[in-house]
Amino acid sequence: MVLFTCRDLGMDCSFETTGTTESEIIKKFGDHAGSAHNMPVLTADVIFKVKKAIKK
Ligand SMILES: [Zn+2]
Repeated sequence: MVLFTCRDLGMDCSFETTGTTESEIIKKFGDHAGSAHNMPVLTADVIFKVKKAIKK
């Protein structure tokens, strides 16, 4: 299982999600970021940061 929280990206946000794969987390974060962080598209830079922040 992998864990990701927005706080890991330095965001003041209580969102956290778990999944079985990195790509699942990125998809879930993408849905969240579009509505909560005004980021409808995840840039390569953001995806890189998310991958680094994910705890396995
Ligand atoms: Zn968030």
